Amino acid sequence: IVDEGPVKSWHKSVCRYCGTGCGVMLGMNKDKLVRVRGDQEAHNKGVICIKGSMLDSVMNNPNRLKTPKIKKNGKFVEASWEEAMTLMTEKFKESLSQNGPESIGFYGSGQLLIEESYTANKLFKAGLRSNNVDGNPRLCMASAAVGYTQTFGKDEPPGAYVDIDHAETFFLIGSNAYECHPPLWERIMMRKKANKNVKIIVVDPRKTKTAEHADIYLPVLPGKDMALLNSMCCVMAELNLLDEDFISKYVNFNDGKKKISLEEYKDFLKDYRPEKVADELGLTPREIREVAYQFASSKATMSLWTMGINQRVQGVYLNNTLNSLHLITGQICRPGATPLSLTGQSNACGGVRDTGSLSHLLPNGRLIAKEPHRREMEKLWNVPEGTIAPKPGFHALAMFDEMVKDKVKVALIMCTNPAQTLPNNRYYREGMEKAFLVVSEIFEDTETAKFADILLPAALYIEKEGVYGQTERRYQIIEKLREPVGEARSDFDILVDFANRMGQGKLISYKTPTECWDEYRIISKSSKYDFSGITRERLKKERGIQWPCPSVDHPGTVRRYIKGDPFVPSDKKVYFYGKPDGRATVFARPYIPGKENISKEKPLFLTTGRVISQWHSGTMTYRVPELKHSAGPGRFVFHPQDAGIYKVKKGDRIEVESSRGKMEGIVAISEHETPGVVFAAFYDKTFLINNVVSDDYDPYSKEPDYKVTAINVKKVNA
Ligand code: SF4
Repeated sequence: IVDEGPVKSWHKSVCRYCGTGCGVMLGMNKDKLVRVRGDQEAHNKGVICIKGSMLDSVMNNPNRLKTPKIKKNGKFVEASWEEAMTLMTEKFKESLSQNGPESIGFYGSGQLLIEESYTANKLFKAGLRSNNVDGNPRLCMASAAVGYTQTFGKDEPPGAYVDIDHAETFFLIGSNAYECHPPLWERIMMRKKANKNVKIIVVDPRKTKTAEHADIYLPVLPGKDMALLNSMCCVMAELNLLDEDFISKYVNFNDGKKKISLEEYKDFLKDYRPEKVADELGLTPREIREVAYQFASSKATMSLWTMGINQRVQGVYLNNTLNSLHLITGQICRPGATPLSLTGQSNACGGVRDTGSLSHLLPNGRLIAKEPHRREMEKLWNVPEGTIAPKPGFHALAMFDEMVKDKVKVALIMCTNPAQTLPNNRYYREGMEKAFLVVSEIFEDTETAKFADILLPAALYIEKEGVYGQTERRYQIIEKLREPVGEARSDFDILVDFANRMGQGKLISYKTPTECWDEYRIISKSSKYDFSGITRERLKKERGIQWPCPSVDHPGTVRRYIKGDPFVPSDKKVYFYGKPDGRATVFARPYIPGKENISKEKPLFLTTGRVISQWHSGTMTYRVPELKHSAGPGRFVFHPQDAGIYKVKKGDRIEVESSRGKMEGIVAISEHETPGVVFAAFYDKTFLINNVVSDDYDPYSKEPDYKVTAINVKKVNA
């Protein structure tokens, strides 16, 4: 451990990585970050994980990209900003004039600051008239966003982290919180320690560290949990565990096409009686009944989920049904009783979902497909009626697919690494090879940087200022603590410069992130995502504020849809204001088996995920020696039983084949895996697991299924 010297000043900030959005204190010595600690005053009460505690190692890394570069004859050559931006502008203008707005695109990130995503979205949709704006949140929580919107009429969760302190049952499904959201997991454990009645239920094909701590663990087979959730609803109906009073006041039922009655919903559930589905799930009927009973009868049940549910071909149905479990049992709109989807990135919620920086969205929950929403945004952005194209743009996979097909010809990629993270990776890399790509990056050696035609050196997060919005609708400010290294510039500066060069200086007329924030804040006022009361001044003084927050004297909203939420009428206890009648929707969603199924030819499931010491594609955390050592290289992890069946042992080199292709890698063995399931993490760029991961996606959210890929394995040189 290098001693970077004493701390000269402490600054409040937010961790750079995951959607937990931990408040951190950054200790600076001149322009060096020398210490990191959790902030006791923040929602995480001083707790941070190993990744956050080593932020300094990344922030001080000397190998940053420091100047713009242009690829000439296959090699990067240093260039001035003027040369790089001129070429970038020429390419975008040329493509626009020759091939139209569909030929350009922006692929952003849940790690850009809110002001950066907002600016890119506004520039492309209202300035360049291209709705091809999407980003990596499509890959991680689009299903949760669509699920909330369909159920409640509005995106983003009803509850908050503070509900952990009141829950008596935790239902974790598709979430390895122990490794992926450690401070939240610690909070759950504190709650369990404080209250002996607390029960933890974990549903996961893998016996993760989270599952090890469960009171009830259900090792459901990959891809089958939709049947489990319906079976739980069925048990609740059979055992009279439904909260009929809550249902009669606040819930509608729908079969996906039309309103149905509660009785019709109960009829739908009969196909999921535990005796009918238990074998397919790999569970016993008793286990399903026990979990259903615990969920419904607990004083307060909180569901937590993440990629195991979102990254699925039935991701939206799963999200709908998780919300439904809460609605039919009345386990919602009370302290400790709520669904809460966890997110993977620091600013996926605030930066991308809320700003509408996805191909089908406009800011604050407005939809491109809805004419009144387009008209409203055109007025707010002061552009002529009809400026925003009526057709949604290409979502993430479609955008890269259209590069392969030579339709999207020029794109700007900021703060993300699709060449490592897209599923069926080899195929989409073909598109990256063909298109003219401008990539803004902090390091030159990422997989995506290889495909750049222009590389722009980006500022790190302590070198710029802006706002992050985390999982529980909380906005927190990030202070600029030093100047960018070399010639690096913030993505905000790059976007404003680019807008001016594209003749959009009138549209993007603000010059600073603060001016941008004020514009966006005011725009939110005419929506139910109103955060107009969250001024920069308040963010500097307060430790994050949760929206809705309609005025500067409003304290923010911890729990939505109940008293205290500014949009709930004063005569209502609960009001789901996203819906015309104030009632949330319980959908009858069937379990539909996916295309990726095991067979004689492909007898194993591959599932992917994260490990505690690495974050996403490892472009930052895999550079930290201690974290790299802790994670080791990427591997295929087998259960000992499968290792015996397939005659592989630790360290063997194997070839894995899926419907998308083949790749080689090294074997590891772990009791944490389930027989029949091989696990692989995606942080190591020398082990590109996404080459064999299926790119089937949910038809509603367009989020790919990283969790269920059928594979076969064979030893190399066996
Ligand atoms: Fe908190 Fe996530 Fe950062 Fe860890 S990586 S400190 S959990 S925000």
